[in-house]
This record gives sequence, C-alpha cells and structure tokens, in this order.
Amino acid sequence: MKNRLNEIIRNATAEIAKSADIETLEAARVRYLGKKGELTAVLKSMGSIAEDERRVIGKLANDVRSEIEGSISRRKRELSDIQLKAKLMSEKLDVTLPGTAQKVGKLHPSTKVLNEVVEIFLGMGFEVTEGPDIEFDDYCFGMLNMPKGHPARDIQDTFYINDKVLLRTQTSSVQVRTMLSRKPPFRIISPGRCYRVDTPDATHTPTFHQIEGLVIDRNITMSDLKGTLDQLAKRLYGDDIQTRFRPHHFPYTEPSAEMDAGCFMCRMKGCSFCKGEGYIELLGCGMVHPKVLSGCGIDPDEFTGYAFGVGLDRLTMLKYGINDIRLLFDNDMRFLSQF
Ligand SMILES: [Zn+2]
Repeated sequence: MKNRLNEIIRNATAEIAKSADIETLEAARVRYLGKKGELTAVLKSMGSIAEDERRVIGKLANDVRSEIEGSISRRKRELSDIQLKAKLMSEKLDVTLPGTAQKVGKLHPSTKVLNEVVEIFLGMGFEVTEGPDIEFDDYCFGMLNMPKGHPARDIQDTFYINDKVLLRTQTSSVQVRTMLSRKPPFRIISPGRCYRVDTPDATHTPTFHQIEGLVIDRNITMSDLKGTLDQLAKRLYGDDIQTRFRPHHFPYTEPSAEMDAGCFMCRMKGCSFCKGEGYIELLGCGMVHPKVLSGCGIDPDEFTGYAFGVGLDRLTMLKYGINDIRLLFDNDMRFLSQF
C-alpha cells in the first residue's frame, strides 16, 4: 500500500506539472482526489489492514493528499499568471491613440430664451402655469369673446379634433383655465406649444411656441401692463432699449395694443434688421375684456387685469439673429450646436 501511495504521488506530481491549462489541472485533481479518485480508493480500502499499520498508512495518505493539494494550488497560480500575461499581451493598450469624443448635448436656443423669460417674470412675482395642448374650443375661443362664427377665428386656422375639441391655437386657454379654477389676485405666465394650419415658410410653422401672461387684481391699470412689458424688453435686450405701444384689436382685450421694442441690433438708429424703423414688433397685449372676466366668474367691477402674448420662436429669432423659423424645428445639429 505504501508503494501504491508513492506511485500516486509520483504520477500526480508529474501530471500536475505537465498540465498546460486550468481544465487539465482540474481533471488531474478529480483523478487523484475526487470521490472516485485514486487516493480516495486507497483510503477506502484501509478498513482491510491491521490496526497499527492503518495508523502509519493513514498518516502517509494524509501527507500525500496535502502534498497533491499544495502542488495543485501552486500550479493553478502559475497557470493564471500565464493566462493574465497572455491576455495583457493580446490586448495591448496604446495610450497615445486619440480618444473617442463624447458628444455633449445642450439646450435648444428656444429653451434658453424661454428660461430667460421665465426667470424675468419669476423675479416680478409671476408664477408659471401650464395646460393641455389638446383643448376645448370653448377655452380657446368661446370664453375669450370669440363665439362660433366670430371673424377673428378665421385668422387662426385650427386643427379640429371634433366640434368641441382642438389643438390649441394659443396658450390663452391656460388663462381661461386659471380664471375658472382660482380666485384672484393672481399673476401667471403660461408658456407652451400651439398649433395652426399654416404652410411652413420663413415666418410660419404649424407648430410654434407662445408665452402668455395674465394679471388679475384690484386696481390693475394699463400703466402696470406697460411697466411690466417695458421691463421684459429691457431685461431681454438691454436697459437702453425703449418700447412703444400701438393701438390694435383683439376680441379678448379692451383696449388692445401691440408693443414694439427698440431695435437692439442698431440701438434704435435704423438698420436692415428693423427695416430702418428703429423698432421691431414684439408682442400683443391689452386690458382683459370685462366680458371675458365675467364669463369666467370674475366680477369686472371689482377686478381688472391685463394679458399679453409673445411668440417664443420670434423672441429666439430676434435674440440670435435667425432669419428662418423653420431652422428652430429642423433639429439640424450643425445649426443648433452654434448656440
Ligand atoms: Zn435696427
């Protein structure tokens, strides 16, 4: 039996040293130390030998086992070192190669201008409210003093979903929602996407963005409106920019006006950008029509208010000197990455 054990250790050591990879090594371990392995077989047959010889053989068998185990783990370390070196050699890293550039996104120019406008109004105590793009005809027209058949509806060619529901043509619908759901006083701006049946050209797109504002309180006058919008123009384009108001007509405000801001390109001297005028048209505004107030459950004898609406896309084009609105919707990264 001693001879058998010596033979096992000789064979095992040779086989372990010879094994060229982890799999062969594992096969050798199973062959000698596994449940049906050669050393295990010797241990199992020990019951048949005499007591004192069994003690000697048992100790020897244990020595053989730990020697084989030691050889296996040594060889295992050697093999994984060899594998690691081979891997490192095959995956040589050239640190002098240029890296892969990561493209970093940035805000759309319209989003930048919107953030700027929101910041200006938040500073003046306004809050931002939003409403759904798919809107009731009543909130978009009816309650804004434009009943069915009103001629002012015609200039806002509308995408209708059915007789009562449409894609909003203006964010004024959010003003109606606010007046219906809250008690004055409040001052809000409502930015959002609007839709009109328009053939795209340099100044029109079927989808565009508006920022509307509404202030309802006691003793609100036209001078509050003028002061607030004058501030907007100055904060956007510079303190030396002046504004002027021209009479206009909107069904939902009385009196109504359009506001021009001094041309910031030529500092109001007159240039091709403002067509020699020194001013550029900026927005529409007015005092909320008493009929609109009472229609929304607000007593026009107690409360007055003003409203305005400005095209975000127009503000963006003015700010960055963009001459075609379609560029803002094309998603052409070559164009957008300039801002
Ligand atoms: Zn100009």
